[in-house]
Amino acid sequence: MALIVHKYGGTSMGSVERIRNVAKRVAKWHRAGHQMVVVPSAMSGETNRLLKLAGDIVEGSGRGASPRELDMIASTGEQVSIGLLSIALQAIGVQAVSYAGWQVPVKTDSSFTKARIESIDDARIRADLDAGKVVIVAGFQGVDADGHITTLGRGGSDTSAVAVAAALKAAECLIYTDVDGVYTTDPRIVPEAKRLEKVTFEEMLEMASLGSKVLQIRSVEFAGKYKVKTRVLSSMTDPDIDLNIEATSGTLITFEEDEAMEKAVISGIAFNRDEAKITLTQVPDRPGIAFSILGPVAAANIDVDMIIQNQSINGTTDFSFTVHRNEFAKTMDVLNGSVKDAIKAKEILGDNKIAKVSLVGIGMRSHVGIASLMFETLAKEGINIQMISTSEIKTSVVIDDKYMELAVRALHKAFGLEQAA
Ligand code: ASP
Ligand code: MG
Repeated sequence: MALIVHKYGGTSMGSVERIRNVAKRVAKWHRAGHQMVVVPSAMSGETNRLLKLAGDIVEGSGRGASPRELDMIASTGEQVSIGLLSIALQAIGVQAVSYAGWQVPVKTDSSFTKARIESIDDARIRADLDAGKVVIVAGFQGVDADGHITTLGRGGSDTSAVAVAAALKAAECLIYTDVDGVYTTDPRIVPEAKRLEKVTFEEMLEMASLGSKVLQIRSVEFAGKYKVKTRVLSSMTDPDIDLNIEATSGTLITFEEDEAMEKAVISGIAFNRDEAKITLTQVPDRPGIAFSILGPVAAANIDVDMIIQNQSINGTTDFSFTVHRNEFAKTMDVLNGSVKDAIKAKEILGDNKIAKVSLVGIGMRSHVGIASLMFETLAKEGINIQMISTSEIKTSVVIDDKYMELAVRALHKAFGLEQAA
């Protein structure tokens, strides 16, 4: 008997029928003798619908909706889900009880719409588990020190589930979703993409930060910090399938690296179109220049991702960096405002039609020639590389976004990922 946390995403909770299936699946695990905590998302589309209502209300007023009230609204999606799932379990004879975040409580800071979990009180959940109940905890939400309801950012119920698993020292956190695991890349772009049986926590962290949408990045950070055994698997299988088969399906995020994983040159390809590039040409090459450019950008609360500064020629250099596409206009404003005159750049060029494609794999530590095969592959396709950045286990390039899919397909093939285990 073990303490197990299940998380079900919006699609898995998407209809009455699907919620009944979730209940059947959870009941199966409960009958097998496990103590079960379940963290569902809102029914699919619900969070969008709720946030749109808020948007409609303020439309034309010239004012944005206040983040505190947005959280008040958005959190109701999960509250409906937990009640429905609890009723579905009770309907098949399983004792169940649901709790909103504030009832547990799941304590967070006060950054509405993107709050961070600070602590989770396990007493109430444990008492119910000991009484034999299935405990259902709302994902995505918490409560701050002043009693205000908060939410954790889009996709945040992954983080709720892993954090609950960490707080309860659960044996495993199973993330049920509409795909059957983590793939070498998005199968919608490369149909030959293969499911990975295992992925290391570090690789998963890179993939999540580089654009893979399977797990919210904070949930991966939590899993790493508290060593939560986490598995991503499908909720679309028959809920009555053999428990042992189900328990070993999907993709396990591991903290151990076995030989096969090191042998693989790379594990996956991540990509995103979320960034925009800014280049300042011919800026004077003198101490403090990077700070004079990025200082005001940071002061405007804009996150910078890749940064490149060229070798200087005749005392000037070109300086490029990327930011989230949503912050492109704001960044250009900051630069064209105070920065431009202060540093005397020749031009400030912006490009928001870029994509970042990244190879990820712990095999990079022990293999050479990965970047060169990547560059050769892109060259053969005639794709120009605009920026490059590397870390111990990833190599990323920025390219024109219209070539993104071509690049991903060519690289998937060049690295033989269709043969991955
Ligand atoms: N319902 C929230 C969202 O749509 C949280 C989640 O699904 O993880 O972002
Ligand atoms: Mg999700």
